[in-house]
Amino acid sequence: MQDEVQLTSQDFDLGRVWNNRFANLGPAFFSARTPTPVREPYWVARSQSMARELGLEDDWWRSQEALEAFSGNRPLVGSRPLASVYSGHQFGVWAGQLGDGRAIMLGEVQASDGNSLELQLKGSGSTPYSRMGDGRAVLRSTIREFLCSEAMHALGIPSTRALCMTGSDQPVRRETLETAAVLARTAPSFIRFGHFEHFSHTEQHEELKKLTDFVIDGFYPECRDAPNPAAALLAAVTSRTAALMAGWQAVGFCHGVMNTDNMSILGLTLDYGPFQFMDGFDPNHIPNHTDTGGRYSYKRQPQVAYWNLFALGQALLPLIGEPDETMAALEPYKAIFPAAQDMRMAAKLGFTNSNEGTSALINDLLALMAKERTDYPIFWRRWAQHLAGQPVETVLDLFHDRPGIENCMQQLQELESKFGQQPNANLALGSSPAIVLRNHLAEQAIALANQKDFSMIQQLLDVLENPFSEHPNHTTWAGFPPDWASSIQISCSS
Ligand code: AMP
Ligand code: MG
Repeated sequence: MQDEVQLTSQDFDLGRVWNNRFANLGPAFFSARTPTPVREPYWVARSQSMARELGLEDDWWRSQEALEAFSGNRPLVGSRPLASVYSGHQFGVWAGQLGDGRAIMLGEVQASDGNSLELQLKGSGSTPYSRMGDGRAVLRSTIREFLCSEAMHALGIPSTRALCMTGSDQPVRRETLETAAVLARTAPSFIRFGHFEHFSHTEQHEELKKLTDFVIDGFYPECRDAPNPAAALLAAVTSRTAALMAGWQAVGFCHGVMNTDNMSILGLTLDYGPFQFMDGFDPNHIPNHTDTGGRYSYKRQPQVAYWNLFALGQALLPLIGEPDETMAALEPYKAIFPAAQDMRMAAKLGFTNSNEGTSALINDLLALMAKERTDYPIFWRRWAQHLAGQPVETVLDLFHDRPGIENCMQQLQELESKFGQQPNANLALGSSPAIVLRNHLAEQAIALANQKDFSMIQQLLDVLENPFSEHPNHTTWAGFPPDWASSIQISCSS
């Protein structure tokens, strides 16, 4: 059915310089593959902030040609479309070869700052790595990825980005019949831990070295002159991943599918599937309905990241040489993650440094919140607003256990006297967002989109781009989730 639609022969010119460095790695790394056109595409949403970073003209999206290009129906001048091959561990089990089964990398576009950004179309048709899949993505999951990529970036948490998404009424079969969408997403690189695992497990050690050199030269040049560059790379990735985990935990983000093929070598949040920003605080929260064992629950994310780094270390072992050096490169995780986490949480309290006092207060607050399933984003925002002068009752009223929260407030005062300074309200307000992309907000935008009303997606994007500001016109979006939010089930199906 998809093949009925003809690829438009005349190319679309984005007006940017393309550097297709990944494509120069050679055929072991990818299969050349052009997107499969969709029927009668239409615009769903665009990120002007991403467009500006790419250096696109303000009216970049206005033409029919642009619409066709970003839905995969028209080639882009200078692009060199391909699907890359990778492997990975899924739910802790070696899954063998995976690869870009429904994403096609168009190439690397030179952004306005001179750096290159890879541009991918996700949901743009099957590739040699599609296995049993149809190569498509549905409207529902594409809206979630589009919004969350931009929201994470605005939260200051490293992430792949989204430029735009288009839809088509072409049917896509999941549990029910849905419709297709194509996401144009960007990142300096979409290389995953799984790319390294692929060349290691298949004993293609020359390619493994080539990939490692490519990543070091392009993204970790400081590792080049280290005595053991591959070990230095592992240590650098370990450090970035630890920082990423601290960012996720502090904001209450659950990824949902932390398989090694969804782990970015650049420490970016990658592949938004059954993710969730927690509502009521529950350390054991599992966002993914399919994850019955809770392997990827909120509290396990930092450990899982370490497990994944270990898998990366094993993959790099043929280059590193010594198991001891591999372990030494991973070891700093155990100090970097907790330190980064303590800093993030201390900042939410309003302090620039963490110490025994801030750690004890955080532990007590989180224990209290876990006991009462206190709304995580609202608690922290109200805490910050209290520091900025709002009455303390706005915080106290969130708890049944009044003595418990009053005891925490007492601890805050003791910290103030110990530090000899007031907590910094602006630091706290800049660390605890007023709005995050909760599941029910995405669901509302999706329900409207299913009726061809895409306005809420764009309005949500506007608000999520400034998550640390109050949005008086959208107070309900910043408020408590409705009762039905807890019954939303998000699975791997996308
Ligand atoms: P994910 O669970 O989304 O990280 O995907 C795991 C693997 O399955 C990757 O190789 C994806 O490209 C592939 N995949 C997921 N959905 C599809 C689909 N609808 N068609 C083809 N490949 C898919
Ligand atoms: Mg994936």
